[in-house]
Amino acid sequence: MESRRKLSLLNSVFMTTTPFLAVGLSIYYLITQGLHWGDVALFGAMYILTGMAITAGYHRYYSHRAYDCHWAVQLFYLLFGAAAIENSALKWCRDHRLHHQKVDTDEDPYNIKKGFFYAHMGWIFYETPKDRTFACVPDLQRDPLVQWQNNHFFKILIVVGFVMPTLIGAAYGRPLGGFLFGGLVRAVFVQHTTFLINSAAHYFGTRPYSVNNTARDTWWLAFFTYGEGYHNFHHRFGADYRNGYKWYQFDPTKWWIKTLNVVGLSWRLTRFRAEHILKARIEADIRRVQLKIADAPDALSARIQKRMADAQLQLETAYNRLAEAKIRYRKLKRSVVASSEIATTRLANSLEQWKLRNRQYKFQFRAAQARWALLIAAFSRFQLQTPIT
Ligand SMILES: [Zn+2]
Ligand SMILES: [Zn+2]
Repeated sequence: MESRRKLSLLNSVFMTTTPFLAVGLSIYYLITQGLHWGDVALFGAMYILTGMAITAGYHRYYSHRAYDCHWAVQLFYLLFGAAAIENSALKWCRDHRLHHQKVDTDEDPYNIKKGFFYAHMGWIFYETPKDRTFACVPDLQRDPLVQWQNNHFFKILIVVGFVMPTLIGAAYGRPLGGFLFGGLVRAVFVQHTTFLINSAAHYFGTRPYSVNNTARDTWWLAFFTYGEGYHNFHHRFGADYRNGYKWYQFDPTKWWIKTLNVVGLSWRLTRFRAEHILKARIEADIRRVQLKIADAPDALSARIQKRMADAQLQLETAYNRLAEAKIRYRKLKRSVVASSEIATTRLANSLEQWKLRNRQYKFQFRAAQARWALLIAAFSRFQLQTPIT
């Protein structure tokens, strides 16, 4: 299909020359002027702001509507998103929504099945197919700010991405340093780190939440991609404002959105419930085993399915018991605060009992989880000893 698509001369030249230009000019600058602390600070600030405009703005806000935010935040996303040089929000989101809807097919704009390089940046070398419409982004077409950014994309890109850092550089006596480290070098870094989400995050890692597509979870990739390394979770729960849903998972984009929420600039943050996430994990595990035992004799397959069904029931029962106990404990805790002194003593005893029960249920749930994991690991290694005739 690509052989019939026209190469974009502008995009190809831009994508291939900018990294070399950035390296060459940086070497010249470092030899002739040396590094200034302002260059490092400007690089850091612009790297964070333009990258966050892509991941929190273009991606989680405009493409997935994972939360709502103040118009000033939207304006920030559009101004600094343009400076990341990854197309206007309207076109970026059209491509990204198509990626989710048609992942791993010919209609996926950055289909990993066409190779790592194609998914990373090769797809940008081509003109957009003429039949790619904006049908999947009607909400963005109605948004006047998004339309304004789309109409003035190149002007915004030049002003915010290059003129502004050059002027800041001039303010500390280094206009070339500002242009380079706040503009060109920073743009190359932001592009290739965010591009890793389309390439490496569909290539390396595990698939705990869905085996139906190539998206993968890779904890180390989160450190290069503003927290977007948990891509298998993201493809399964795209509307969730988090990509790393566990509190300790490195996801600065999630922390940025949460901080905006605390100061009143973002709201309606979508979070999938723990039970849905657990259900997805169980389904993915079962699917993995089913694929493995597809050629097994019926009787053996039935035995394995039965063992999995029993373990699934135990795991879900343990989870539900723990979830209910947690709700009871929280309710009781609230009533202790609101009660009289005599009642409080009685309630406090009850609270202590529920605390112990909670601990016991938590332990039982962890044990059920471990049993499930062992069972799935054993069945995933399943190999037919005798070929079926
Ligand atoms: Zn993806
Ligand atoms: Zn997405």
